[in-house]
Amino acid sequence: MSRTVNIVGAGPSGLFCSYLLIKAGMKVNLFDQMGGVGKKFLVAGNGGLNLTHSEDLEKFVTRYGEHSELFASLIGEFSPTDMREWCSSLGVETFVGSSGRVFPKKLKAADLLSKWLKFLKESPNFTLNLKHKLLSADLEGNLKFESPDGEISSYADYTVLSLGGGSWKKTGSDGKWVDYLKNLKLDIKEFYSMNCGFTIDWSELFLEDFEDDYLKNIKVTYGDRTVAGEVMITKYGIEGGAIYAHSSQIQKDLLNHIKSKIYIDLKPQLSEESIVEKLSRPRKKNSMSNHLRKVLNLSKLNLKLLREVVSKEEFKDINYLAKSIKHLPLELVTSRPIDEAISTSGGVSFESMDDDLMIKGSRSIYLAGEMLDWEAPTGGYLLQGCFSMSHHVVNSILSKSS
Ligand SMILES: Cc1cc2nc3c(=O)[nH]c(=O)nc-3n(C[C@H](O)[C@H](O)[C@H](O)COP(=O)(O)OP(=O)(O)OC[C@H]3O[C@@H](n4cnc5c(N)ncnc54)[C@H](O)[C@@H]3O)c2cc1C
Repeated sequence: MSRTVNIVGAGPSGLFCSYLLIKAGMKVNLFDQMGGVGKKFLVAGNGGLNLTHSEDLEKFVTRYGEHSELFASLIGEFSPTDMREWCSSLGVETFVGSSGRVFPKKLKAADLLSKWLKFLKESPNFTLNLKHKLLSADLEGNLKFESPDGEISSYADYTVLSLGGGSWKKTGSDGKWVDYLKNLKLDIKEFYSMNCGFTIDWSELFLEDFEDDYLKNIKVTYGDRTVAGEVMITKYGIEGGAIYAHSSQIQKDLLNHIKSKIYIDLKPQLSEESIVEKLSRPRKKNSMSNHLRKVLNLSKLNLKLLREVVSKEEFKDINYLAKSIKHLPLELVTSRPIDEAISTSGGVSFESMDDDLMIKGSRSIYLAGEMLDWEAPTGGYLLQGCFSMSHHVVNSILSKSS
């Protein structure tokens, strides 16, 4: 007789559990508090859905920091190659971008999500319960929901909770489950912004006539780590891939009241010496700003940033300017609000879970995805982490049900 699994949370983690369980012939009741599925997944597709990464697995798993050993094992079970094959099996082809990141050919998430959902809905074993907000759960697997028909209860052989992290509340990932799951006596760490922007105290002069703008082909150094990429300079501070890559360490330092200064290399392709050599060329009647623009091709934003950090006197000194162009210091004050973050750290500690990702002390409740306390940078590592966890959870359910 096929077993039934209640899955709460219809983000990529819950949807992938549903897919694998239906494929294996199990019955699935999927619940979500929103009126549609995969809302954050759809948002993730807005800027190009980065599903996973093509780099060596050895390097890949280091992206999970202190949990790299756990993820080495999870990703060993369901790898980036498996992810691409799974997409292809649904009729969604993927490609590797120049940075090694993997995207669906159509870039957006909607096509993949609709094919995924179509597969589920075609199964008589699948039930989708939208607008069902989980209000409580106990260790036996008894669930209570607020639904359009009032409060309802549900129980199944197994339960998977995949309720997401604490950012982008409007997608349903509101983190309120922290209160609803009190009965489960989980060790839950506070949520913090990850893969997020930071504020900078720009001067009034800097903000005069200022529009948000990108710095492309730059390098950002924080501590002893340097990342190439791009950032967006905004009225409130700084955003973008090359900052997100450092955000975990910056966030930790800010929380420990350690001043966080990043250094931007505005001209990574030129050495400091060659910048000095170019700036030493005759300036004729050009102002220093015009000279910088002409000999180094510095943009308006580059010049504005230099003006922001370099004093009037220093601006006349080509050696100092060259140093600043290669090593432009910017002090970060705070992280941007958690609701804007791409992901959050915090959530249920792995201390509360057994090796199968089942809650210790329960015999039927699993957790998967961003609601657990792990973190990874952007680059496809978040979704790959969620998929690999779901695969692991489903393997455990199937092995217990056989
Ligand atoms: C702007 C943005 C861009 C991103 N881009 C990428 C990217 O390119 N690549 C990448 O790897 N990752 C990306 N991410 C991160 C990725 O989307 C998340 O890591 C992923 O969605 C987490 O999946 P999840 O299923 O664990 O949780 P979620 O997707 O957050 O889903 C959780 C679900 O649980 C439901 N829920 C919560 N509480 C309850 C409750 N009490 N009752 C019922 N239902 C509930 C929610 O409604 C939601 O549907 C991006 C995120 C954002 C915000």
